[in-house]
Amino acid sequence: MRVRPRRRLLPALALLVTAAGLLPATPRADGVATARPAGTPGAPAAAGKARPDARGVVLAVHGGAGTALIRGQVDARTEKVYRDGLATALRAGQRELRRGGTSVDAVAAAVRVLEDDELFNAGKGAVFNEDAAHELDASIMRGSDLAAGAVAGVRGVRNPVSAARLVMEKSRHVLLAGEGADDFAARHGLPMVTQDYYWTQKRWDALMKAKGRTADGSRGRRPAGAGDDAQAYGTVGAVALDRRGDLAAATSTGGTTGKAVGRVGDSPVVGAGTYARNGTVAASATGHGEVFLRGAATVTISNLIEFGGRDVASAAYEVLVRRLPALGGDGGVIALDPKGVFDAPHSSQGLLHGYLTGDGRIVTKVFLDESPPRV
Ligand code: ASP
Repeated sequence: MRVRPRRRLLPALALLVTAAGLLPATPRADGVATARPAGTPGAPAAAGKARPDARGVVLAVHGGAGTALIRGQVDARTEKVYRDGLATALRAGQRELRRGGTSVDAVAAAVRVLEDDELFNAGKGAVFNEDAAHELDASIMRGSDLAAGAVAGVRGVRNPVSAARLVMEKSRHVLLAGEGADDFAARHGLPMVTQDYYWTQKRWDALMKAKGRTADGSRGRRPAGAGDDAQAYGTVGAVALDRRGDLAAATSTGGTTGKAVGRVGDSPVVGAGTYARNGTVAASATGHGEVFLRGAATVTISNLIEFGGRDVASAAYEVLVRRLPALGGDGGVIALDPKGVFDAPHSSQGLLHGYLTGDGRIVTKVFLDESPPRV
């Protein structure tokens, strides 16, 4: 669907969703459906062939699995905000590609925009950990030589994807964590922020809910860490193919609501949350990080293409819809092959995503019916 504001005013009921009424979902005031807890029986019965989403794609972004808008149940403004968020990121990457920049330039630019947009769980708007702090993870990978960089648990970098890129390009390491990663970023002149920069009411409320407290701090009924909002993802990522034929991928996240201090998910781990290899695929994942780590999500997609003779859609489907749910984890991936074939399969209710084709067309998918879960 092309990016443009919808004219019809739809009921402003915030809503949420069950996929065709099949899934337990948690209504939220912002009209976004949250994911069912990973491993919950009763996967949505939507059609799901390994058919690629699109061809001729040069850049794609995602704004996380676990959320979906229901047509007719969100107001036009909510729809527009999500579409604009994704489209603005695509345009930032497009500018890089147009000026002859690399796929690394494009994914870094797109992810930076999503990190700056508080709608998404990365950079500003990141979720809180169990101590009501923010610890952010990000990674980036270049398909031409398998160069990669990542940061985990940073607490003061405004744009973690930029820190990941610095690690890739200016250090002898691949993954820096914690204070060392923050120091490294600051020493290299990246903009640093205090924790309050990342704060948003929406994420605070989600933490309070997960902890079973009301917003005024009084105890509610649920134990700490429990609840659907702990599974409301919202990680961001991008994949790109430049005119040299080089692939790149990047992913950035605040992790999961109420996560343990020091917890690291799949997003900063090469081969789990992010992978790019010329000749196979550029992939950025979102979902239940522990399972995506155990299932080596993105490198398995690449391996199925390289060693299993699969195409990108079939490989991504196999991993996201077959293998990871069998391990107990839901989520989604954006995957782009060296010919521009793109797919975005997901087992979670939704996967907010969009793509840009070589002829400049921008498509965003935010409604459940635009991108139903595959089964
Ligand atoms: N995969 C991320 C993590 O586990 C969460 C997400 O995708 O939103 O940290």
